[in-house]
Amino acid sequence: MSETWKPKTKLVHAGTRRSQYGEVSEAIFLTQGFVYDSAEIAEARFIKSGEDEFIYARYGNPTVRMFEERMAAIEGAEDAFATASGMAAVNGALFSALKAGDHIVAAKALFGSCLYICETLLPRFGVEVSFVDGTDLDQWQAAVRPDTKLLFLEAISNPTLEVIDIAAVAQIAHANDALLMVDNVFATPIFQRTLELGADVVIYSATKHIDGQGRCLGGVVLGTRDFIQDTLVPFLKHTGGALSPFNAWVMLKGLETLDLRCQAQGTTAQMLAERLEGHKSLDQVLFPFLASHPQNQLARQQMSAGGTVLSLVISGGREGAFRFLNGLKIVKISNNLGDAKSLVTHPTTTTHQRLTPEQRDALGIGDGLVRLSVGLEDGQDLLEDILQALEVG
Ligand SMILES: *Cc1c(COP(=O)(O)O)cnc(C)c1O
Repeated sequence: MSETWKPKTKLVHAGTRRSQYGEVSEAIFLTQGFVYDSAEIAEARFIKSGEDEFIYARYGNPTVRMFEERMAAIEGAEDAFATASGMAAVNGALFSALKAGDHIVAAKALFGSCLYICETLLPRFGVEVSFVDGTDLDQWQAAVRPDTKLLFLEAISNPTLEVIDIAAVAQIAHANDALLMVDNVFATPIFQRTLELGADVVIYSATKHIDGQGRCLGGVVLGTRDFIQDTLVPFLKHTGGALSPFNAWVMLKGLETLDLRCQAQGTTAQMLAERLEGHKSLDQVLFPFLASHPQNQLARQQMSAGGTVLSLVISGGREGAFRFLNGLKIVKISNNLGDAKSLVTHPTTTTHQRLTPEQRDALGIGDGLVRLSVGLEDGQDLLEDILQALEVG
């Protein structure tokens, strides 16, 4: 690979390892283990494995390594480790870097399972967690202490689509020798250069845009070679969160079209946000690139597009939202995002059901809010589908 390749070239070619057959499409090495030519070679490989030397698929596999190297090339990271799901990636990144007695600061608007790790699991192992409003830099500054090891946030929060100032939070972290870890699912590797903004570790659920066609679970953690090899890998290779070679292959194929899909979905999302804002059945349209978005200016500095997800606040609360969901014909009711199919979800009764009404209020998740992940369908068809479903309400 050449360092000068542009992202779209890297998405197609970076990390490719060809076998002796010279296959065009990446091979699926569906093997749990590897054969050594001699006992001496086995011994040497357990002491130190070279570039193309593998031991066991929980530690690494050629197909998985292609996916990791392609992701690292795209993100501009020194190294990457792929995991069985996005949550294995978040869990691995946090637990591998922390020990009892440490303190972390996290934005309070987190994906449900990330919140469970920060609120319930980490404290059980003696890690203290302070939650802040991620958009308020004073709160980050005030929460950081000498024993703070890392700051954790989602670049764009789910489902309210708040945008956090990555460069400013990175500065606060680094002034205190703490790491900034960013779950970058909503911003995507295409729309935001998160490491260049100052993050130390970037995490993706590959289940979302990277697969992008709703097939497989997967995740990846990206960072410096030291962090990945010395901190993360020892934890993950012994705790078993490895990505399956088949899923890695699906993700590699997904990466080839990632830019095309994100650009197309992002363009349709922007159009829908603009056309729907002000509709009589909507109290609010939330999308980072709408001028009405509270962090619009920051979003435009930090990202090249507003993302592929918008949230709509439907008049009439839960009933209005349910009528809207049930009235949609093209858009499907499902809780994935980043998919080729447009998907809609009602967070208060599904993904955020576990929270108390007070907790949901604090996060700005009302009964009328629905999250719309924009797919690859024709934008005009989607607009008409949404408009007819709003008429039902
Ligand atoms: C989906 C998601 C995850 C978890 O990913 P899985 O692949 O489902 O384990 C974590 N963070 C965010 C922001 C997500 O959207």
